[in-house]
Amino acid sequence: MGTPSNIKLIDENGLRLDGRGDEELRPIKITTDVLERADGSAFIEWGGNKILVAVYGPREAYPKHTQDIEKAVIKARYNMAAFSVDERKKPGPDRRSIELSMVISNALSSVVFLEQFPRTSIDVFIEVLQADAGTRIAGLTAASVALADAGIPMKDLIVGCAAGKVENTIVLDLNKEEDNYGQADLPVAIIPKTKDIVLLQMDGDMSEDEIDRAMDLAINASLKIYEHQKDALKRKYFSIAQEDEQ
Ligand code: UDP
Repeated sequence: MGTPSNIKLIDENGLRLDGRGDEELRPIKITTDVLERADGSAFIEWGGNKILVAVYGPREAYPKHTQDIEKAVIKARYNMAAFSVDERKKPGPDRRSIELSMVISNALSSVVFLEQFPRTSIDVFIEVLQADAGTRIAGLTAASVALADAGIPMKDLIVGCAAGKVENTIVLDLNKEEDNYGQADLPVAIIPKTKDIVLLQMDGDMSEDEIDRAMDLAINASLKIYEHQKDALKRKYFSIAQEDEQ
């Protein structure tokens, strides 16, 4: 974090580099049922992010020592394609992707009725094809839709958004320049019905008041994104119903 002197992230009219106001979300589009061989799938386009999620399972967990005799285990794998970023990313897992896979697995585990599927794994592959900041939250948001698409019983979806601080202004949904050169980034994910927080991380510095304001912005935006998730699932069932009628 820390802005190089030649980059101005917010102009004199209060607009950001991509033309947004401080409380504005980037455009979001979610599609479900995009992969034939997966049990469930989703594709999310969120600003410049493009992320594909495939879900397999519940299926017998391998290797066997990973089985839990009382419940299913969610194994999410977050992966960034080598071509997804400006500077080619070395393929394969690194510390960041291992950490993100863990926090995403934990968040998803809080909504799935795991005890209905002992000894199984639910494998969730999150493939970031194009990255523009906010990929952990966009991946998690799409993953919960893909789980629902797979018909896996859940108490709710999971949805999130990041907020942060850029040039001393609290802003919603940071893009890559803001994430890289801003003062703070705070990704938040919630269970929308209960507003329970299932993922919360922070990079950079904010005061307590700034954190409260960033959390409020992120949670309000998450509730809007929840509508996109539900619409994506409704579109799927609407098209199935139409096919049945024909
Ligand atoms: N990024 C990159 N190379 C990397 C990791 C990240 O170019 O190896 C970029 C990418 O656009 C990513 C952004 O930096 O979306 C912010 O990364 P961060 O670790 O904050 O995670 P994210 O905001 O994507 O959840």
